[in-house]
Amino acid sequence: MNNPYESMQTALHELSAQGNLRTLSHALHEGRYLYAAGQKMLNLSSNDYLGLAANLELRARFLENLTPEDFLPSSSSSRLLTGNHPAFDELETALARLYGTESALVFNSGYDANTGILPAITEAEDLILADKLVHASLIDGMRLSRARWHRFKHNDLHHLDRLLAEHAPKHRHIIIVTESIFSMDGDEAPLSKLVQLKQLHPNVLLYVDEAHAFGLRGHRGLGCCEEKGCIGEVDFLAGTLGKATASAGAFVVCRQVTRDYLVNHVRPFIFTTALPPVIAKWSRHVLHLLPEMSERRQRLNTLSRRLHQVLREQKVKCPSTSHIIPLLIGDSARAVYRAEEMQRHGFYVRAVRPPTVPEGTARLRLSLRADITDEEMERIIEEVAK
Ligand code: PMP
Repeated sequence: MNNPYESMQTALHELSAQGNLRTLSHALHEGRYLYAAGQKMLNLSSNDYLGLAANLELRARFLENLTPEDFLPSSSSSRLLTGNHPAFDELETALARLYGTESALVFNSGYDANTGILPAITEAEDLILADKLVHASLIDGMRLSRARWHRFKHNDLHHLDRLLAEHAPKHRHIIIVTESIFSMDGDEAPLSKLVQLKQLHPNVLLYVDEAHAFGLRGHRGLGCCEEKGCIGEVDFLAGTLGKATASAGAFVVCRQVTRDYLVNHVRPFIFTTALPPVIAKWSRHVLHLLPEMSERRQRLNTLSRRLHQVLREQKVKCPSTSHIIPLLIGDSARAVYRAEEMQRHGFYVRAVRPPTVPEGTARLRLSLRADITDEEMERIIEEVAK
């Protein structure tokens, strides 16, 4: 008879032997710095790309107008019961207005949105075609759906075109799924071309996860679809609120009919307690200021380009075209060692290992942030060059 606890222990030993065991570390935050193991380090591992989560002034301005009545730390119910506080409507109205879409719907997290929407919008006679490198939440969404699914080679339009030509006539609907900036490689999807491909087939829809671009790209920070002028062509444009916009939750902007359908079908929307209304208010507060944050976006862009250029000069292969900069190491134990070395030198960088990334592609993942000083940037470059 197999002892379940022994099986778990064996699995943990195996992960440890491969250098892939995950543990929770303790970290004390002070703005953009982090203290761990007695060391003060610049945080290059968070998704606080604009430095807004570290910004006390932003929080102080929000708190100035917050009354005990407004400070609602719990919704106490699903939005379909009594949890639909006006703060959610205000946030969704603001999102739809900014994007110029008919509507928006807020979810408790990006994970909920991605795992909830894909199963809700597909049936057994549908097909999902997802980029090979999409996030785990999208993969889990596909796994939960009744549709067949297939992954096309990363950013390979020819492969996708072939799959569409072969499968579009045989399926009720096809959903193309991609990220605009890929979370682990920091490269970008060819959005305009994806839109063109989708338009060749009347039964094909496009789902774009802008988790790592929302707040950062485009004139008003709405993401890569704004930058490429294709917001109106994307059927499901998803963004997360817990990254550049320093809050929590996620949203999709879409047609009204889509929103009404999602409210009736997305299980992680229907069967969960809504986010605390105070979080929706805070998201609204940050969103209101987002269009005016071009200077921060520009700064992040300048820093990213500087590092890309250094890597090019040093002939380091790096797919990134964004603020997410992976330094490929390969071996997991070696990646952990390099991350610890950077930590000793004052930069909190983590190793990303399988299964988060494919086997043999363990890497350091640098998340640049707009509040890095010039002096810090030069030191980062020195570290990377080692
Ligand atoms: N999509 C992508 C591309 C992500 O990287 C993440 C989280 N890292 C998510 C969705 C999930 O978002 P959330 O953290 O809000 O659950």
